[in-house]
Amino acid sequence: MKNCIFCQIVAKEVPTDLIYEDDQIVVFKDIFPKARIHLLVVSKEHVQSLAHLSPEHTSLATRMLTLLPKLAKEQGLEGGFRTVINTGTDGGQEIDHIHFHLLGGGPLPRM
Ligand code: AMP
Ligand code: ZN
Repeated sequence: MKNCIFCQIVAKEVPTDLIYEDDQIVVFKDIFPKARIHLLVVSKEHVQSLAHLSPEHTSLATRMLTLLPKLAKEQGLEGGFRTVINTGTDGGQEIDHIHFHLLGGGPLPRM
């Protein structure tokens, strides 16, 4: 989608610190990390938010979810990690392209 920064990253029109890529997903470092390790797991397909997922996205959603513990292991997050999905304005979503935050690398503040 035009004017979507994550679509531009998927299309390699905007450079990023790429960690992982397959046919459905890209993972890259958050440009403003909120923890020592802060990755974004992003669908290649432009889906606006978690609220816009439909049954046709079941396999994509499962792939994104199951990728998280694999990435955490690769990143050495043995002590645990946090996954955040901000959704919509009240949820604090800034980029309207679905993404899972993976945060860790030390104790995180309680929620
Ligand atoms: P959210 O508030 O859940 O929409 O999170 C969007 C995240 O994307 C924020 O943590 C930003 O720091 C991050 N972000 C925005 N632009 C870029 C970019 N070009 N490359 C990497 N991360 C980005
Ligand atoms: Zn997009």
